[in-house]
Amino acid sequence: MIDDLSTPPAGSCSGCLSEHLTCEQMLRLYDILLDSMQSGFMLHDRDARVLVCNRKAALILGLERACLVGSTPEALAGRIFREDRTPVAPEDFPVNVVRRTGRAMEDVILGIGSPDGGIPVWISVNAAPVLLVDEIDKIAVSFIDVTAMKTTVDSLRRSESNLKNILEHTPLGVCVTDEMGHFEQANDAYCKFYGYSRQELLGRHFTLVVPPEQRAFMSDLHDRFIKSGTEIRGEWDVVAKDGQVKTIIADAARIVMDANKMRKVTFVMDITDKKRFEEELKQTNAQLEAQNRMDPLTRLHNRKYAMECLETLAGEFKRYGSDFCAAMIDIDHFKKVNDTFGHRTGDEVLECVAREITALSRETDVAVRFGGEEFLLIMPHTSLQGSMAALEKIRARMESLAMTPHRIKVTVSAGVARYREQGILEFIEDADKALYRAKNAGRNRVLSAPE
Ligand code: GH3
Ligand code: MG
Ligand code: MG
Repeated sequence: MIDDLSTPPAGSCSGCLSEHLTCEQMLRLYDILLDSMQSGFMLHDRDARVLVCNRKAALILGLERACLVGSTPEALAGRIFREDRTPVAPEDFPVNVVRRTGRAMEDVILGIGSPDGGIPVWISVNAAPVLLVDEIDKIAVSFIDVTAMKTTVDSLRRSESNLKNILEHTPLGVCVTDEMGHFEQANDAYCKFYGYSRQELLGRHFTLVVPPEQRAFMSDLHDRFIKSGTEIRGEWDVVAKDGQVKTIIADAARIVMDANKMRKVTFVMDITDKKRFEEELKQTNAQLEAQNRMDPLTRLHNRKYAMECLETLAGEFKRYGSDFCAAMIDIDHFKKVNDTFGHRTGDEVLECVAREITALSRETDVAVRFGGEEFLLIMPHTSLQGSMAALEKIRARMESLAMTPHRIKVTVSAGVARYREQGILEFIEDADKALYRAKNAGRNRVLSAPE
């Protein structure tokens, strides 16, 4: 507040300068002082006309000083606006408000549109009445350019609100826990995911959402993370308010927030559906994999699986020398079955023979539909003699069995070979050759490959 000109300032050394300077020199000195100021300064008369205007004021307002001196606030009409960008009418300029109210104004933020409509200049304005015998004689207005500061503050405010917006609208659950592990903040996604309201969470220990059996471990992990930043990223099971167990992928950051205290910010992504999908996919893949190695009609293994199995056994034979044999089994005159009862009944017979071979072989044996009406029985850890006995059992069973409602009887022939470190295909061919001999010898018999 500028003091009343009628009373000299208290404690002032009245006339100190005037003792040494002429009136003209005094005025010149004031001019120099005003022009060296960092803030804009304007002195208005009681009608708001500009009496004095310093260099900085003209610079900030973007007008010639000669234009400003003698002008009224109307000269700036349409160029002044508030922080919310609404225009300020000349009667509401600080100088006129002070004229009306008689009261000083401080730190009024106003924008000045540059004449070319570019980036505005922001000023912080002080205005005060200069009284003469208790009446407003003049109005002193000073202002500083706060554009840089305002831009920084605005962008900080903007980034803070953007950050808040992002946190609130991100599908990622975000929570902040204090050093002890108590919830301090939680965004909407976090609350929604766990089914708790924010009030229910804040202040509670984070293990509220951890399955009981994992609480001690997770609590310990949290403490270690707060102390040393130990890796905490990973997949975890969590429990929602309704007891539903969900799977999340969580990552955490250790940050120092206000009060110089360490906080843990946890980012949570719901992967329950993804996990379930992966599980289903795994099962489907396993089924497909099994199907890929299975004959769909008889549900025995297929030729692909047989080759893999024989390769494995050949490898074991090399290492451990354990004997294994294979028998090629072929239904005798099967064509006749098809011709007599039809293909569908033929299929039923094939299924029935497959079941009998499986039932009569050992658990460790591998029964394979090798093709058409041919089966391969792989017998690990079995001597040639043992294999012949097993095949004889199968042959005898088939001879006596009446299959399908038509009570069809078929016989089988088989050729058995013992593995002797030949190639796998050669080994199968040995069994096949023995089968061929069995067929030629009159069928319904089991013969072995020459040793
Ligand atoms: P052999 O005693 O010499 O083995 O006589 P075979 O009639 O059994 O042999 P052949 O090779 O002449 O005929 C095999 C028959 O098996 C012909 C074919 O139609 C039949 N067959 C092959 N695969 C299937 C199948 O999946 N279903 C049915 N129903 N028949 C099949
Ligand atoms: Mg046949
Ligand atoms: Mg055949």
